Amino acid sequence: MAHPIQQSPADPDWDINLIRNYDVAGPRYTSYPTANLFNESFTAEDYVKLAEGEQSNISPMSLYVHVPFCRDICYYCACNKIVTRKHHLVRQYLDALSLEMELRGALHSHRPVSQLHLGGGTPTYLKEAELTELMHHLSTHFRLSDKETREYSIEIDPRTVTEDTIALLKGLGFNRISMGIQDFDPLVQQSINRTQSPAMVAGLVQNIRDHHFTSLSFDLIYGLPNQSVTSFKHTVDRVIEMSPDRIALYNYAHLPSLFSNQRAIDRQTLPSADTKLAILEYVGRRLIDAGYDYIGMDHFVRPGDELEIARQNNRLQRNFQGYSTCLATDLIGLGPSAISQFGDSFSQNAKDLDPWSEVIEQGKLPIIRGLQVTEEDKLRKHVIMSLACQLTLDIAATEQQFGIDFNQHFAESLASMGDFERDGLVEITPRHINVSKRGRLLLRNICMSFDQYIQAGRGQGPGRFSRTI
Ligand code: SF4
Repeated sequence: MAHPIQQSPADPDWDINLIRNYDVAGPRYTSYPTANLFNESFTAEDYVKLAEGEQSNISPMSLYVHVPFCRDICYYCACNKIVTRKHHLVRQYLDALSLEMELRGALHSHRPVSQLHLGGGTPTYLKEAELTELMHHLSTHFRLSDKETREYSIEIDPRTVTEDTIALLKGLGFNRISMGIQDFDPLVQQSINRTQSPAMVAGLVQNIRDHHFTSLSFDLIYGLPNQSVTSFKHTVDRVIEMSPDRIALYNYAHLPSLFSNQRAIDRQTLPSADTKLAILEYVGRRLIDAGYDYIGMDHFVRPGDELEIARQNNRLQRNFQGYSTCLATDLIGLGPSAISQFGDSFSQNAKDLDPWSEVIEQGKLPIIRGLQVTEEDKLRKHVIMSLACQLTLDIAATEQQFGIDFNQHFAESLASMGDFERDGLVEITPRHINVSKRGRLLLRNICMSFDQYIQAGRGQGPGRFSRTI
């Protein structure tokens, strides 16, 4: 029997038995096509040609700077990072980064930068003078914004910052901070080699509030070694007391064959699939009870947050940092492994420090792969992002915008959604596809129905994607 659809932006349906049935590996759709499809046929020359043809485009853009260094390894980590105490590598990095900024700035400096994000690695691995230098180079080569509406964010590792760092970040123009928390339980922290006390984090949070940052985000992870519902309850209690504006709750994917540092985690200590689902349900319900809204795909926000408002105004988007307000469509990535989304293209920099800096020193952009988006990709991106961000797709508007007969064009996708409809995850009418409360926790699965590459079985090697739950 079909379940009746109930639309509510704030309150997903935590039907764990249903979710269990849909636990498959799938993309997070921070882009479409997804990054595993980038290839070497897209080159730095293609990027430059595109950028030179876009010189009349003066709309705002986003910048992402990847700072790859970390002081210590976190055993669960799947990021592109260099774990080192050899601080002299930072000099090599900053010198090459300033050259990359010069090369990119020559193409893009006429456009205002409405969004900036420093991620990693650990941006706060850099000393205060080095962070200042990085921001100085950025302001030399790009049109940074001084508007209140700018969104300039940085990921901080609580173990690497002091009150002085927070004051400096505010002075450098950042107005948003995100912090890796993961779990406050001492045994879990020991098992992942990341020890940070709730008291130390609470002190920093107070400091961030005192400096009037617009937004504070926490990252939490479920599925870590020695985690249980009981242990995670304490973490969630502490988090709710600290009241961050946004919370991302990620699923730990144990893929030691891809990430060698994960071999330090004893598989026997990992929670079972049922325990993971119980933790997910507990945290989800607890955060909603505490007043958070569920945006979708791992993200919770306080009511009135820009992401919730952006959803109401159809201005919510997904990019490589997750959900974001749509202040800019082009994103320029700087630093090793950084991805750019520019015009109808995606491109990615060389991943390791030496190849990345060597190409830049030759006066070339360090792009090693990417792709040119096709018209079919654009249509499917529109469908996937509408469902992921607005929780609905306007079929008539899509037909008009892309000149297609929707039912005919997506006959296979619609046919594959029979289970979703029967289980009440989506409602398909002649005019709309609506994601229900039950479907909100399974957005990745729903979006996969419209992913041409997934449907064709392309780019899906083992361990390519994390589980959807
Ligand atoms: S989780 Fe963050 S701090 Fe830890 S190793 Fe990975 S990038 Fe570095």
